[in-house]
Amino acid sequence: MRALVLDHGRLQLADAPVPSRRGECLVRVTMAGICGTDLELLKGYADFSGIPGHEFVGIVEAASRPEDRHWIGQRVVGDINIGCGTCRACQDGAKEHCEARQVLGIRARDGAFAEYLTLPSCNLHPVPDTVPDLAAVFVEPVAAACRILEQVSVGPASRVAVMGDGRMGLLIAQVVAATGAQVVLLGKHIDRVELARRMGIEARRSPESALAQGARFDLVVEATGAADGLAQALGLVRPRGTVVLKSTVHDSGTPPTWPIVVDEITIVGSRCGPFAPALDLLARGMVKVDSLVTCVTGLDEYARAFREADTGLKAVFAIS
Ligand SMILES: [Zn+2]
Ligand SMILES: [Zn+2]
Repeated sequence: MRALVLDHGRLQLADAPVPSRRGECLVRVTMAGICGTDLELLKGYADFSGIPGHEFVGIVEAASRPEDRHWIGQRVVGDINIGCGTCRACQDGAKEHCEARQVLGIRARDGAFAEYLTLPSCNLHPVPDTVPDLAAVFVEPVAAACRILEQVSVGPASRVAVMGDGRMGLLIAQVVAATGAQVVLLGKHIDRVELARRMGIEARRSPESALAQGARFDLVVEATGAADGLAQALGLVRPRGTVVLKSTVHDSGTPPTWPIVVDEITIVGSRCGPFAPALDLLARGMVKVDSLVTCVTGLDEYARAFREADTGLKAVFAIS
């Protein structure tokens, strides 16, 4: 099969064997999205070699266990963490924290920038007919945004600032707004701020404008990916408020910790999230993703797609 293979930081289109794992389902990938993690993998983060890609939609073509045969022909998305099944984290239902976990296209397991992948059936979620492939490819990042709602109580009375006008910021703002919360997206780029407004999200340029207006938020979600993101978030949150960190920053330096103590701020790290509410939000049109896709192309145009993912919004591979 055709696949993008990452080898010591070099990505190339190659001919790879169709994967086969006992006990798992074989999925033909129809579309796969490039996200910030993929860009980081190319830079050497996580020391991953193999086929990257973890945001996908596909169709189950084969099932090695008889009890999984009903999945064959089903259009699916997939939870990307595969736990050992026996450790404390796995038994607590938190396989994303299993120390022996594999993560699709990120850690010890080939991913979705290929014609086929395999996953256990317990990782699969059927995609409703009302969610087209180009929206289904966003389920994993929308699920990551939904994780915030599992960690922090957010409702119509909550004043929330989402920092960052990238893919994640625009998804998080929509997911949080779906709770009825008063959401302000703080962005850097005028075109992204306008895009957020067209999605019905109140958006302003730069956190400074929010600070100048004396705004203090109950919840600040940091999704800028910038080294000083946490420091900026601490300037926006009210005393006893919460800051959720969504971007993985590897060169964040040392942010000042005294405001966390003085203002009794809760800092929450947030990663992978639940697929079912994400699919539901997409199916009900509460999260709109059409205008986030700026490039759809085949695997052979991977250089252009990765460039677009770096500078534009969402680049998606149409694979089969
Ligand atoms: Zn991702
Ligand atoms: Zn485990």
